[in-house]
Amino acid sequence: MTATEDLIASAEAHSAHNYHPLPVVVASARGAWMTDVEGRRYLDMLAGYSALNFGHGNPRLIEAATEQLGRVTLTSRAFHHDRFAEFCARLARLCGKEMVLPMNTGAEAVETAVKTARKWGYRVKGVPGGRARIVVAANNFHGRTTTIVSFSTDPEARADYGPYTPGFDIVPFGDLGALRDAVTEDTVAVLIEPVQGEAGVLVPPPGYLPGVRELTRERGVLFVADEIQSGLGRTGRTFACEHEDVVPDVYLLGKALGGGVVPVSAVVADADVLGVFRPGEHGSTFGGNPLACAVGLEVVAMLETGEFQQRATELGEHLHAELGLLAGSGKVVEVRGRGLWAGVDIDPSHGTGREISEKLMERGVLVKDTHGSTIRIAPPLVISKEDLDWGLDQLRAVLG
Ligand SMILES: *Cc1c(COP(=O)(O)O)cnc(C)c1O
Repeated sequence: MTATEDLIASAEAHSAHNYHPLPVVVASARGAWMTDVEGRRYLDMLAGYSALNFGHGNPRLIEAATEQLGRVTLTSRAFHHDRFAEFCARLARLCGKEMVLPMNTGAEAVETAVKTARKWGYRVKGVPGGRARIVVAANNFHGRTTTIVSFSTDPEARADYGPYTPGFDIVPFGDLGALRDAVTEDTVAVLIEPVQGEAGVLVPPPGYLPGVRELTRERGVLFVADEIQSGLGRTGRTFACEHEDVVPDVYLLGKALGGGVVPVSAVVADADVLGVFRPGEHGSTFGGNPLACAVGLEVVAMLETGEFQQRATELGEHLHAELGLLAGSGKVVEVRGRGLWAGVDIDPSHGTGREISEKLMERGVLVKDTHGSTIRIAPPLVISKEDLDWGLDQLRAVLG
């Protein structure tokens, strides 16, 4: 048995099989490259589902984390700590909002938004007790908690987890008419991803996000944008909503906010929304901890420069031009996406998304399939153009 086989067999014996990882065992990583236990190198074209927008071991983030590790890492929110105020203030400013509620994982940010919207609905909008409803989109991915999978349309994510949390209405993504029909007096929020990541990097038709903004404003409903995967530079802007000049009421952030170092998530909104919480009504032992704030603050500082958004724009144009050529040659059926982010539907005669991913792995490129014959390309924003081109060469080679 090789070291790789041995470690995979052991992982399979002693961990739940809730994932089906590619057969590679990573031992170290820097920038856009990972090295496995046998010393083979791989170009990371997944970037931890955008949690690694700034690359592996980003020096600025490692330095911020290391400095904080030597001072204080956890206080709980029972006490103040000296990194909290600046993190919240700077993140709020980056979002053009007044307040931040820090949590840890993306799913917790979504859960927090559901609670925020319901509480806001009862206290501010005046929805009768117990009647609040939230409209969501089909094929959404917002996380894995029991409430969140209650409004998933993916049978794999949802089956056997009932009884489900009520209070959600599901409409087709990108269909404004359906959304208009679904909103009632009891609707407190519309929760959508501005670009649906897990669904295969689906960009809604032009005008959809502005339409959602207009409708929610008219009807007194919160527009909650789940930018956990689409936000923080991936699409070439700080937020995917910016591509259509849309400002939602609530941003949900996660993944890249933790710089690939620690889990950090946040709900960001104005005081008329996040102000609904009183002490004891919501919380998290780890949310807003000193290490998370130190790393998150550095992430915000890096995004304030605009250089990562610029890189995602430039490299993204190149990526989409190259993938467009592949589509023109008929080897891929469709390419979607924005910035340094693409969903690529491969002609099924070349194999499933999984098979393509395995062939790419053999050539030293790591990607992940989403559904069927779709692979997702989302390298760290720090990838060099040469490395990106090399990765695309491997894709061309695999597609023959
Ligand atoms: C990943 C993701 C989540 C869930 O984040 P976790 O940290 O895995 O809980 C929620 N929404 C979107 C859009 C995501 O991509």
